Amino acid sequence: MNKRGTAALLLALALVLTGCLADRNTEDAAQVPSGDVLLTSASESGGDTEKTAEDVTGATGGLPVLDPTGGSASEAPTTPEPTTEAPTTPEPTTEAPTTPEPTTEAPTTPEPTTEEPTTPESTTPEETTAGEDGPRAASEEVYLDPDWQYAEESAINSGHAVLYYAQENRKDIVVGVNAGHGTEGGSSVKTYCHPDHTPKVTGGTTEEGAIKAIAVSSGMDFDDGTPESRVTLKVAQYLRDMLLAKGYDVLMVRDGKDVQLDNVARTVICNHTADCHIAIHYDSDGLGYDKGAYFMSVPGALKSMYPVSDHWQEHEELGRALIAGCRDTGYKVWDDGSMDMDLTQTSYSTVPSVDIEMGNQSSAHDDDACYEAAEALAAGIDIFFEN
Ligand SMILES: [Zn+2]
Repeated sequence: MNKRGTAALLLALALVLTGCLADRNTEDAAQVPSGDVLLTSASESGGDTEKTAEDVTGATGGLPVLDPTGGSASEAPTTPEPTTEAPTTPEPTTEAPTTPEPTTEAPTTPEPTTEEPTTPESTTPEETTAGEDGPRAASEEVYLDPDWQYAEESAINSGHAVLYYAQENRKDIVVGVNAGHGTEGGSSVKTYCHPDHTPKVTGGTTEEGAIKAIAVSSGMDFDDGTPESRVTLKVAQYLRDMLLAKGYDVLMVRDGKDVQLDNVARTVICNHTADCHIAIHYDSDGLGYDKGAYFMSVPGALKSMYPVSDHWQEHEELGRALIAGCRDTGYKVWDDGSMDMDLTQTSYSTVPSVDIEMGNQSSAHDDDACYEAAEALAAGIDIFFEN
């Protein structure tokens, strides 16, 4: 393009620019209060249009084209204002990145929520030895589900059992270990002896013929005053550790000094959570010598009552296996190892279920004796599940 052509083009551009500036100034004047307009005019003034005007000025010299520039300069007070205000408008845009920050912090807020599940885990001592078997927790709490069969027959059920998972050599078998007694207030509440509310057919803690039995008796005291509930818990804890080491999962029906679960609730939880139910007790027969172990077998009169009718053979088989375990480990056994007894436990059980008396008030019950009792039971459990 030659010089003349360039001059003509610049003139044309200048004229166009003059028109634009004029339009813009009227727009600015009319719409300064609007934020959007401020942004638009700011980009225009700082953009190509202004640059073009400078070029025009330099190229054309004293052309009237400059007047619009000078004119706009006189009107400039209104134009620059939006320019200075403009930077403040974009600021919110630069602050925007700071707005997302709370959004990125949001994920950190839920974290405590996801950490909550670890709180119950940490309340169980086994958690520290766990962790090799993936995401599965070392243990979990098990509450009585009111929808479970016979749950409505329970009177004390605010407590919970604890289900411990084996971390190695898993058998996928859950052994319900029920440390007898240990329910504060349990002896002042009663529950039905049988799910069909028929009377008890043998004596025991509750007399024959009774419709209701003590929900959980306080248990006997050993000759030295040690409460039965403390000893049954000790045996249960040893047994839990032995069974976990063998690969069994263990439902600790009572995992501490006290659990607010009556005999019906304990039984129903085992029915729905465990593959068998072993209640550990010591007899209060008044004998002055160690009687040895025996299990409470189902009386003949109960064998036609549901659910006993469907499960009494399993109870018998489990009881025989536990006694065999006692004999195998040298643990003293009383007589043939069984005594017929009408118990709330077996009356409501739908899994193999046994109340085993590991001795009486005269039996040794120090740590070594408790450990030996647990060994006998663990051996019997192996026999039961291996058959
Ligand atoms: Zn007992």
